[in-house]
Amino acid sequence: MIVISTNTTVTTLGPDSRPAALAQPGQEILFETLDCFGNYYYHTPQDQGDTMPANPATGPVAIAGAQPGDTLKVTIKKITISPTAMIEQIAGKGCLGKRVRRDAFQMVPLRDGAAQLFGRAVPLRPMIGVIGVAPAQAVPTLVPGAHGGNMDCANITEGAEVYLPVFVPGAQLALGDLHGVMADGEIGYSGLEVYGSVLVETQLLKGVRLANPVVREGETLYFIASGDTLDQAAETASLDLCDFITRYEGLSTRDTVMLLNAIGHLGICQAVNGQKTVKVGVQRRWLPCAPLG
Ligand code: CA
Ligand code: ZN
Repeated sequence: MIVISTNTTVTTLGPDSRPAALAQPGQEILFETLDCFGNYYYHTPQDQGDTMPANPATGPVAIAGAQPGDTLKVTIKKITISPTAMIEQIAGKGCLGKRVRRDAFQMVPLRDGAAQLFGRAVPLRPMIGVIGVAPAQAVPTLVPGAHGGNMDCANITEGAEVYLPVFVPGAQLALGDLHGVMADGEIGYSGLEVYGSVLVETQLLKGVRLANPVVREGETLYFIASGDTLDQAAETASLDLCDFITRYEGLSTRDTVMLLNAIGHLGICQAVNGQKTVKVGVQRRWLPCAPLG
């Protein structure tokens, strides 16, 4: 097993990313992660430094043999999270920004498998906010896109698989921004932000070409896309799924469009980042020939 500590974090992913390690496909990798604030609030004031790191991801790790056009399958084998979470709210940010009178953050105890929130024990459902490879042009880890990144998809939980298109040799996998639990949309502008660690295993799918990330959780495949607006993201994710079905399932485009009215479930990953992210979920049993999962 390779361990990537929080000594190697990045706030940008791109073709010039320097890998922290080289992993073989099939080799386990343990990523130790900071929270999205770089663990800022856990430091004493004199250790905090001048600026808070913006959404750091741990890595990247080069995957041996990965080439542009491949698909990198990342199996999330285990997610371990800190005993407390941080929630922040910022005036004007997120869907609820108009109700935020003053910027605030709060430390939340995570106990007995639940977040103890205002008299309610909300069950934990640990997930990964940022997981991605290096895109062809460098972007901050705050940004989601075809390479993955800050998708904030609540389905990237323990046991899930993330399929990422590869853009640069070695793929350059990085992840961070764990959440103890986050509802679809992240409408208040914050997950329950935690630090922790993620154990993954990767596999290379040669000859499987994706335009955007796909996530499998349980029996559902989610086609993920990001865009300037939710409308644009919804269109991209829907078109990706349609093209995937016509390519692998042997259905005509005409029939696929009709079918997707019945089996394609549109949902929101996050509506609060600069680029918005949506998912279209489809049960795997409707895609018996898909080379995923
Ligand atoms: Ca995030
Ligand atoms: Zn986050």
